[in-house]
Amino acid sequence: YKSRLKDAGLWRTDSFINGEWVKGDDRFDVNNPANREKVADVASVGAEGAKRAVKAAAAANLAWRKTSAFERSRIVQRWYELIMEHQDDLGIILAAEMGKPLKEAKGEVAYGAGFVQWAAEEARRVHGETLPVPTPGARGWTIRQPVGVVSCITPWNFPSAMITRKCGPALAVGCPIVIKPASETPLSALALAELADRAGFPKGVFNVVTGEAREIGPVLTGSEEVAMVAFTGSTEIGALLMEQAAKTIKRVALELGGNAPFIIMDDADLEKAADGLVQGKFRAAGQTCVSPNRVFVQEGVIDKLTELLKTRVAKLKLGDPFADGTDVGPLIHEEAVSRVAELVENAVSKGARVLTGGKSRVDEMGGAYFEPTLISGADHSMSLACNEIFGPVAALYPFKDEDEVIRLANDTPYGLAAYLYTRDAGRVHRISEGIDFGMIGVNAPMVGSPATPFGGMKQSGIGREGGKWAAEEFTELKFVLLGGV
Ligand code: ADP
Repeated sequence: YKSRLKDAGLWRTDSFINGEWVKGDDRFDVNNPANREKVADVASVGAEGAKRAVKAAAAANLAWRKTSAFERSRIVQRWYELIMEHQDDLGIILAAEMGKPLKEAKGEVAYGAGFVQWAAEEARRVHGETLPVPTPGARGWTIRQPVGVVSCITPWNFPSAMITRKCGPALAVGCPIVIKPASETPLSALALAELADRAGFPKGVFNVVTGEAREIGPVLTGSEEVAMVAFTGSTEIGALLMEQAAKTIKRVALELGGNAPFIIMDDADLEKAADGLVQGKFRAAGQTCVSPNRVFVQEGVIDKLTELLKTRVAKLKLGDPFADGTDVGPLIHEEAVSRVAELVENAVSKGARVLTGGKSRVDEMGGAYFEPTLISGADHSMSLACNEIFGPVAALYPFKDEDEVIRLANDTPYGLAAYLYTRDAGRVHRISEGIDFGMIGVNAPMVGSPATPFGGMKQSGIGREGGKWAAEEFTELKFVLLGGV
């Protein structure tokens, strides 16, 4: 894939520590999920590399924090511009390592870059306040300062956007960062590091360490020099990292698993609901933490909606990420295909019906492919109701009324995204207030944007990314009292 790039300089396979590319003693393979081919081998720098990166970031901390907000904003803005200039190349790298269709991959690059741009603008608006104080002749005020070194640990499903969404604001408000990208998809992270280097971040401010999570993780979560751990990934690993970070009372921002309900009421515009579901569900082949996981349809409209969906899902083209017309690409690897196949088998064994799709296509297509699938007659005894499907499978659950659907939607330990289709303003308010989810799309299948808060309740996480909330996550609020004025 390197030869396809307009700028081959973006093809980086070594870690980036203290402004230098570091080979490491070991290498690991990155494979294309569409055809099992090796895409690259990448440096594995282990605990040693992670320690060097943390030291470099800590050494850069004071100077970066003292850099004026205007100067930091300028560098972050430059990074944004470079990402957009190289959107096509970054899309190719992302599609090759992750498997989402090329057009969607380029879309992710732009979506992720939006957070960098927003952060560059927001950096200039971080400020404190003056406050009334009870003591005569005294003055009080707050100042907002960067928390310090931030460890960013990111997953493979958005190899670019999960990095920019954390690092844009962290860097912009004055925090040096150490990124540990998922080992399935390190190339996007390293290409972003190359562009960050060109944008002019000082040495040590931007570091990417690649390799074994079990070696690197404890350094990034345990080092005294690290002030905060920002993580996106599974609830299981999030809990582990929080435990590791607890020993030194680090701040944590966790964006974890979801089990999104997609609620369709009987007054909804069914065509739009069907279009929205297909758009939200099959993006990244269903491998996103905000993917609709349980589709609740009110009894009176379920037959009509099922027909509308069946036509749409059957039309989706499963294929190579680089082929024209591909709607749905492969899953991240073949174990993921087996896991999804098991969820479907379990549902069928408990009485659900497969209306279209339902099968692995690994053998015929030579990559980690699973057919876009529609299932009817699902209920909460099936394992796909309580697990993140993380695959191209939509399952329909009938329900009777508002109270029942609120209860069913909340019947999960997760609370990240939820979706609601209705044209009744009362229902919009009652249901969005009744369901415990951090983000709710009403007649809208996607909720993330640079300006708005992204994050979950319950076991879906802690903290909010995006907008002004990100600036708060990565800053510390200090209070100063001046007496004897
Ligand atoms: P996913 O199922 O999306 O791969 P994970 O939670 O397993 O989600 O992984 C998300 C990120 O966390 C990846 O970068 C992975 O390498 C990293 N990770 C996994 N295990 C650990 C660990 N023990 N310590 C630190 N990071 C880890």
